[in-house]
Amino acid sequence: MKTIRDINLNNKKVIIRCDFNVPIKDGKIVDDTRIIGAIPTIKYALDNNAKVILMSHLGRVKEEADLTKNNLEPVAKRLSELLGKEVKFVNATRGEVLENAINSMQDKDIILMQNTRYEDLNGKKESSNDPELGAYWASLGDVYINDAFGTIHRAHASNVGIPTNLQGNSAFGFLIEKELNALSVLENPPRPFVVVLGGAKVADKIGVIENLVTKADKILIGGGMAFTFLKAEGFNIGKSLLDAENLEFCKTILSKYKDKIVLPVDIAVTNEYSNDEPYRQKDITDIAEDEMGLDIGNKTLNIFENNLKDAKIVIWNGPLGVYEFEKYKVNTDSLLQFLVDNDIKTILGGGDIVAAAGVANLKDKVYHASTGGGATLEYLEGKKLPGIEAIK
Ligand code: AMP
Repeated sequence: MKTIRDINLNNKKVIIRCDFNVPIKDGKIVDDTRIIGAIPTIKYALDNNAKVILMSHLGRVKEEADLTKNNLEPVAKRLSELLGKEVKFVNATRGEVLENAINSMQDKDIILMQNTRYEDLNGKKESSNDPELGAYWASLGDVYINDAFGTIHRAHASNVGIPTNLQGNSAFGFLIEKELNALSVLENPPRPFVVVLGGAKVADKIGVIENLVTKADKILIGGGMAFTFLKAEGFNIGKSLLDAENLEFCKTILSKYKDKIVLPVDIAVTNEYSNDEPYRQKDITDIAEDEMGLDIGNKTLNIFENNLKDAKIVIWNGPLGVYEFEKYKVNTDSLLQFLVDNDIKTILGGGDIVAAAGVANLKDKVYHASTGGGATLEYLEGKKLPGIEAIK
């Protein structure tokens, strides 16, 4: 993997594609985690005498009104405070103003260009990886560094167009390096390699199941997804989430990989999709027509723990219950705690499970919490990701 350390940055104009897609309300940044996350790569470039040109998207730009809403200027201010150094904001994505600003830069200067998706207003140029736009942005710099993992599964001008035009002078920043180092464990996993899968629908995870079932030693399935598998096994699942269209898929996977797949044996059930019903657990043989399962039960938790205790690596995607409800997040939290307490090397694969671990204050205690959402999911599906391929 080629990283920023492998490129000479001295006196160079270095374009860094960051992920500054932060929540902004009334012009104020609500959560600056992503800005803080970008700092090591930016500092490294500054320390190595670069002229730093930052680019990022912010939200989606479909109509005029999105321009004001998704203006990147507040990010320049916050970044300036964090770095203790002026970050010049350029309110343009092309043209003379931008070019003059870049051409007058000294070493160790830093500018932030306006939201790359402003280019989407006329013909989706950024999001469709318009060749002219990628070539133009590439012409503004000597070196390209991609440090935006969240968009790495997209082929956009700012993450594929630019490196395509700066072949040989493109590399990854520290954030992407960390993500890829952690996730690449999949290529040759230490064993036992155990996967925990949860979340809502089978439909959303078909690619992940198909890819990981061939690689893992065990797959432990919880969450809403488990019920379609349980139904495929012939259990009555009452009113629990059923993904009828994928029942056959579950049957096929179960028949092919019976020894690898571990399903719940008991469930926390309720009559309504609500946190207000009395809490109770039932064996999966006893679920009534008017009941639905919202979390795994304690017997299942024990079985999952037994399957995980000797694991050398664990990948976990999707919560085991409706973690938005206090009562039904219990066993997702318990299993996270078990992994942390027993020092089991765990990668949380994006989205909801990372959010659940954050709420439980366990996110920083696992080996790696992947920030990618859709990007992480596609990585786990074994897909080639355009942002990676463009630099490879
Ligand atoms: P995903 O985005 O696929 O990881 O799914 C996360 C969602 O799955 C969360 O919003 C959970 O509330 C939901 N979920 C987990 N377990 C269940 C369940 N037993 N029934 C319904 N939804 C569930």
